[in-house]
Amino acid sequence: MQSDSDPVVAISTAPGRGAIGIVRVSGRGLGPILEGVLGPASAALVPRRARFARFLDDRGEALDEGLALWFPAPDSYTGEDMLELQGHGGPAVLRLVLQRCLQAGAPVGARIAQPGEFTRRAFLNGRLDLAQAEAVADLVEAGSARAARGAMRSLRGDFSAACDELARELTSLRALVEASLDFPEEEIDFLREADARARLSRARMALAETLARARRGAVLREGLRVVLVGEPNVGKSSLLNALAGEDAALVSEYPGTTRDRIERRIEVSGIPLHVVDTAGLRATEDPVERLGIERTIAAAREADLVLEMVVDGAPASPPPSGGAPEGPVRLRVVNKIDLGGHAPGEQDGAIYLSARTGAGIDALRARLLQAAGWGADTGTEDEYLARARHLHALERATARLDAAVVHADAGTGSLELLAEELRLASDALSEVTGMPGADGLLGVIFAEFCIGK
Ligand code: GDP
Repeated sequence: MQSDSDPVVAISTAPGRGAIGIVRVSGRGLGPILEGVLGPASAALVPRRARFARFLDDRGEALDEGLALWFPAPDSYTGEDMLELQGHGGPAVLRLVLQRCLQAGAPVGARIAQPGEFTRRAFLNGRLDLAQAEAVADLVEAGSARAARGAMRSLRGDFSAACDELARELTSLRALVEASLDFPEEEIDFLREADARARLSRARMALAETLARARRGAVLREGLRVVLVGEPNVGKSSLLNALAGEDAALVSEYPGTTRDRIERRIEVSGIPLHVVDTAGLRATEDPVERLGIERTIAAAREADLVLEMVVDGAPASPPPSGGAPEGPVRLRVVNKIDLGGHAPGEQDGAIYLSARTGAGIDALRARLLQAAGWGADTGTEDEYLARARHLHALERATARLDAAVVHADAGTGSLELLAEELRLASDALSEVTGMPGADGLLGVIFAEFCIGK
């Protein structure tokens, strides 16, 4: 049976060769490992001070040398005693040091850490809340500078603080409502004096703001899925190339060349977009092309945004056959204005552009950003690198708060219902940072970490 404080060991630097490689040890009762690996030098370790040392094998021979850092509990990443050995970054020498730590700790039962176990311990020991722990993985995984800064905001606790502060305000409002229930004859005055209705509105607005920032962060993390649909030859591949700035898809004069979907990850102002170019939607006997069409429909269904492309000057065609599904936001893109003669830019809700000359592409980029949640007024970087789990919690809290507003407006008869909605809303908010109900979720969250983190 594994305990939550038995010594665990891992190589914490990335696999491969590097100037420096780090082996970390965390847990209770690290004495034998310290003495075994560092010999007499272990007695001279000063907490949180780097010390040059030889890392020794069981016969006292040096396996490597480097810096040893000793972090006694509770002032360490995990909140437990921790030893960090910074040696040379070669896979073989690191494995030797790792093995030696395992062997030296054997009587106590040192073992290799599971993925994310250091961070999991940090969470269990109260060093990080759950949203911060998730941000650690997101910071490591961040694929762009902007995503990294968003993850750092969450790691620093900004996102947690926003959620916790809202949860506290809702709890305080609920206390007020419940207190007024105990004094029915005075309840209205009581709530009015406390400005309860205005506080509820402010909380509702603050929650909407937090959700919007979290949604933008989720787009930074996951990317926005954009699907290009339209008849063959309207210029879908060309548009994708123009957006991506490189030859992503084969551009050809013959209808039906793009037989499959081609996915490109492009960045618009640091925001990742997954753009899928499709085989178009049209009736065909060709089995290969039919397959492409089926995939188009599947891709469009899971998209955040569907760009419907037509050619400037072409007769308005009915919606493509095959029934592009309801759901995602749709935007009409009119291509080849260099032939059709329209001015570039947005007009009547459609974007006019030329994939060939590049005219109007900027207007499309601006609309893509808007679709991803960045309006003209969201200039500053303020995203919380949120996950689906956080969005669900915030959305549930929003629904509860909306219901609370209805009860508040309905007046005296609904105060009990109001109190209950406030409770459910703050419970939902607490899930962002707090201990999730089921231990299974903890396992899921930390399993996606790398070993040594
Ligand atoms: P798809 O089948 O929808 O992917 O269309 P393609 O991107 O393969 O383009 C079909 C043809 O239209 C190619 O010959 C392109 O060079 C041409 N084309 C694409 N965009 C434009 C444009 O803005 N202006 C003009 N004149 N031709 C274009």
